[in-house]
Amino acid sequence: MTGLVYKSTGSWYTVKAEDGTFYECRIKGKFRIKGIKSTNPVAVGDVVDFKLEESGNGVINKIHERKNYIIRKSVNLSKQVHIIASNVDKLFLLVTINNPTTTTSFIDRFLVTAEAYGIEAVIVFNKIDTLDREAEDEQLYLQYIYSKIGYKCLRVSATENKGIEKLKEEMKDSISIFSGHSGVGKSTLVNALQPSLNLKTKEISEQHSQGQHTTTFAEMFDLDFGAKIIDTPGIRGFGVVDMEPDEVGDYFPEFFALKEECKFNNCLHKEEPYCAVKDALDADEVAWSRYRSYIQILEGDDEAYRTDIYGE
Ligand code: GDP
Ligand code: ZN
Repeated sequence: MTGLVYKSTGSWYTVKAEDGTFYECRIKGKFRIKGIKSTNPVAVGDVVDFKLEESGNGVINKIHERKNYIIRKSVNLSKQVHIIASNVDKLFLLVTINNPTTTTSFIDRFLVTAEAYGIEAVIVFNKIDTLDREAEDEQLYLQYIYSKIGYKCLRVSATENKGIEKLKEEMKDSISIFSGHSGVGKSTLVNALQPSLNLKTKEISEQHSQGQHTTTFAEMFDLDFGAKIIDTPGIRGFGVVDMEPDEVGDYFPEFFALKEECKFNNCLHKEEPYCAVKDALDADEVAWSRYRSYIQILEGDDEAYRTDIYGE
């Protein structure tokens, strides 16, 4: 039988078969997936083949090729990674202008990571009901710079049910993950999408702040409008995946589009003469905040992104 992994506890996997039935499955033997060494052989989002045993449980014997996967580096010193989820269609980044403030540096790191993973990122501006004139200008400006370079932007209010239908439309037929700082409204928004669903995002993050170590596992949920969401407690954003300096610009779509016009084909858009990106920056065609984020990433300025994975 073939199915989709909805949940993993490390030793048991909950798999939804094509007929909609859920089975508890184990794995037997070792799996070697080309290219990566991970602490978990099977991840939420994996498509697997499994065989039913007399007990009614299944044994996974094959993992289908992954379209993509997002990882977290494991804390120990081995080079192993933890696969948070695989086969993700869309990464939604919740952004608030105030309470909490989401910086462009944070947004850009997130977008670069999504580009590196090859997953579409959608920016969701939440709490639009709270914006005063100045904050609204700022929100619209951000929306302008990000839509101009190709990112879908949505404006919602989770508490006042604004923009929810459009968001549902965007999530339909896809597997989505929501990210963003603690307090941007992830739980509230999910609740607005489907009140019966009570995700654990909140509880777990509270446990975290009490300094308790919790091993957190992702879990997939079906939403009644034909969407799937992967709940990844404790994950606010994704650390930038390791990349070479000359790769970074490729993950800024507006820089990538200009790359051919730079005089040097290995141009880092820093000190080099005849750089099309810097020309565009001077002409206000590239946003300064984007360029600043680019330099920060290039220079490995972690301080600017201290808040990436752990949020607050
Ligand atoms: P999370 O940490 O991202 O899951 O954030 P929560 O969903 O817990 O929301 C944090 C706080 O923001 C709560 O007090 C929510 O009621 C509030 N909140 C969430 N969305 C909105 C919104 O659209 N408008 C307003 N005014 N408050 C919101
Ligand atoms: Zn250049």
